[in-house]
Amino acid sequence: MTTVVEYDVVVVGAGAAGMVGALTAAKRGLQTVVVEKADVYGGTTARSGAGIWIPNNEVLLDAGVPDTPTKAAEYLAAVVGDEVPATRLQAYLSAGPAMISFLLEHTPLRFAWMEGYPDYYPELPGGLPGGRSIEPQPLDANVLGAEYAALNAPYMATPPGTVVMDVDYKWLALIARHPRGLTTATEIVQRYLAAWARGEKPITMGQALAGGLRAGLLAADVPVWLNTPLTELVVSEGRVTGIRVVRDGEEVLLTARRGVIVGSGGFEHNEAMRKQYQEAPTGTDWTVGASSNTGDGIRACAEAGAALDLMDSAWWGPMIPLPTGPYFCLSERTLPGNIFVNPAGERFVNEAAPYGDVVRTMYAQDAFPAWMITDQRYRNRYLFRDLPPLLPYPSEWYDSGALVRDWTIRGLADKIGVPSATLSATVKRFNTLAKTGRDTDFHRGDSSYDHYYADPTNDPNPCLAALVLPPFYAMRIVPGDLGTNGGVRTDERGRALREDGTVIPGLYAAGNASAAVMGKGYAGAGSTLGPAMTFGYLAALDIVEASHG
Ligand SMILES: Cc1cc2nc3c(=O)[nH]c(=O)nc-3n(C[C@H](O)[C@H](O)[C@H](O)COP(=O)(O)OP(=O)(O)OC[C@H]3O[C@@H](n4cnc5c(N)ncnc54)[C@H](O)[C@@H]3O)c2cc1C
Repeated sequence: MTTVVEYDVVVVGAGAAGMVGALTAAKRGLQTVVVEKADVYGGTTARSGAGIWIPNNEVLLDAGVPDTPTKAAEYLAAVVGDEVPATRLQAYLSAGPAMISFLLEHTPLRFAWMEGYPDYYPELPGGLPGGRSIEPQPLDANVLGAEYAALNAPYMATPPGTVVMDVDYKWLALIARHPRGLTTATEIVQRYLAAWARGEKPITMGQALAGGLRAGLLAADVPVWLNTPLTELVVSEGRVTGIRVVRDGEEVLLTARRGVIVGSGGFEHNEAMRKQYQEAPTGTDWTVGASSNTGDGIRACAEAGAALDLMDSAWWGPMIPLPTGPYFCLSERTLPGNIFVNPAGERFVNEAAPYGDVVRTMYAQDAFPAWMITDQRYRNRYLFRDLPPLLPYPSEWYDSGALVRDWTIRGLADKIGVPSATLSATVKRFNTLAKTGRDTDFHRGDSSYDHYYADPTNDPNPCLAALVLPPFYAMRIVPGDLGTNGGVRTDERGRALREDGTVIPGLYAAGNASAAVMGKGYAGAGSTLGPAMTFGYLAALDIVEASHG
């Protein structure tokens, strides 16, 4: 027998989109429940860096960021183009700041400007070289009580005894090069000691964001049912009236008097859907999204008549397929002293370009496999993942085939199967460009974005260093992602739409379960979480409004 339970609002998925939607509905007086498939909450959100791109929010304005609604609108339109209706872009920009203020009021979350992390295309009209991204400040996990144990694990654990924020990475990477590297390292230990003395358990980045949202739900008495996957939507006379879930091995019918918000993430871990919708090569091995994100919500919405958009897309990022899992290669490819080459042994991209653009170029040019070529000087200078400068790369990286080494460029070329004369010529040409300080081939270093994870002590250009000191290294680069970003077509209120543009009453989608408001663009650090949270918020507000209407 099916158990029937009734709420005003039923939210699917306890990530950023779902938890913000649930908190908003609850704080407006609607009885709300969140169902979560995994045995932990937080989804990809808990694994993330938790940069949040919301122009003109109060945290940015208080920090003196010179933003205006006109600048933000001009910039976002330039990044996204005409793939996404202007009404949705406007809704995001208008509601985002109110959503951040709402979280400051109703959760323990506090945010800080990621000072100096540029918009990804700062030279476009309205772009800001100092950036518009914020991140959570360290949060005391004690606010979660026993619920802390059910928070999804981070993508990369920080070393014990440290409290590391997003903005610290830039300087930690330069620990052997710049005095600020050492002062940053000291600060993050001091932060830990101060918190420890106060009896706190500090968490940061995605842990803080997901934990802070969960703490808001706890305070608002919103239940989060773990181990409770959505199986299908219930549709009655064209309206979505609830969902079916499995809970403790039993089917439960959850009736939603006001609406259902689907925030169940993307389909990054669904091999069949990836093959159906995305270009080859693709697969579940190269994503760093949460393993429970298998597109269930997207499929259920499609079965209920929702149109799907952008299904060939993802939040792409170049990954190194390390034996411990794909490694999102961010600062490492931007720091000077490396180049990316294609199977012909030629450079094909500005290595320091925004991550999405690098992978789109890989697909456009069929650059598979691609390799990042570096030298020993690069290893001596910079942090790589969590490996301090000078230390040898782990032997397992060689054993897995992700890393190859040789004393000469020609020998390296032979080992990775690219033409040795071409690779030698490519390195020689790049070394000449590095000495002049201008990459006239791919314009690395021309945008101020390229300079964020660069080395200010490297002359004449912080983004460009010659590859000179043997041995030389090649790291395999694959087209990975932080999650997919195609899904349910929604309008400016987060309402799910049919192919003919009509609204499916009672059904909303936000976050990676919906087609991204960014289209195939990426405005700045936080371009996935900013919209996910804003459209979760907007969906709940629409339910509230419709309830009173
Ligand atoms: C290493 C890393 C760094 C990142 N850094 C950033 C960053 O700094 N800024 C940024 O904007 N983005 C970043 N991202 C991407 C960002 O984390 C995601 O795009 C975002 O968290 C998606 O939020 P969401 O709410 O849509 O989905 P999620 O947070 O993934 O939540 C979806 C939830 O739905 C649940 N679910 C799935 N199926 C069902 C079902 N059938 N029933 C019930 N529940 C279900 C899942 O288990 C999951 O908990 C990063 C990602 C990674 C991995």
